[in-house]
Amino acid sequence: MQRRDRGRLIVISGPSGTGKGTVISRLMELRDDLCISVSLTTRPPRPGEVDGKDYFFVTREEFSQKVEAGLLLEHAEFVGNCYGTPREFVEQKLDGGVSVILEIDVQGAEQVAASCPDSVSVFILPPSGTELERRLRGRHTDSEEKIRSRLLEAKRECAEAARYGYIVVNDSATAAAREIDAIITAEKCKSAYRINLVTEVLIS
Ligand code: ADP
Ligand code: 5GP
Repeated sequence: MQRRDRGRLIVISGPSGTGKGTVISRLMELRDDLCISVSLTTRPPRPGEVDGKDYFFVTREEFSQKVEAGLLLEHAEFVGNCYGTPREFVEQKLDGGVSVILEIDVQGAEQVAASCPDSVSVFILPPSGTELERRLRGRHTDSEEKIRSRLLEAKRECAEAARYGYIVVNDSATAAAREIDAIITAEKCKSAYRINLVTEVLIS
């Protein structure tokens, strides 16, 4: 019988508007061994966003208190707002055998790679720069100024893609979700995580 393994930490990054949220929700339909970490942010909610579901919306002061108390696994400033991952939720889920998705920017991903070397990292690329701009504008959630900063930031972020373990192109969201599903399955089958099963077979 297979033992319950510790969950895996799956870091997903990519430019704003590339379709991370869309792909992750498709991925959640494909697997039942995953959960998504809800981040803290100081950015105001977009129309339709729900506190505690999309983000925990906090003030800068509340955010700083959490940072100082060491309650965040990683944190970063992105286009003028702070974002961070609550540490306790992630650790509880991993200990309970559930893998956790962190949808975070490249600065946060770098911190996670340093503190959790066995995490899995995936960079989601848009099919082209033109399509990224079309998706960002089509979302109708950001001002022209914010769209321009997000597009500038996108170029910087794409330049970091080689640091990630995997790169997935979000042309079709379903195909991109299937690729990430396959990555997670392959990562869970790595011999380093299954070697104990060999001993169990040999002594049974
Ligand atoms: P992110 O989470 O990376 O900021 P979203 O998931 O909010 O991006 O997607 C940005 C916009 O692009 C949304 O309007 C979404 O419906 C659209 N979108 C996402 N994936 C695709 C895709 N594969 N093809 C076309 N449009 C997409
Ligand atoms: P948005 O404002 O579009 O929701 O997110 C902007 C950027 O912040 C995206 O690249 C997103 O992945 C990133 N982000 C969201 N939550 C976190 C977090 O907890 N930590 C870090 N470092 N980045 C985050």
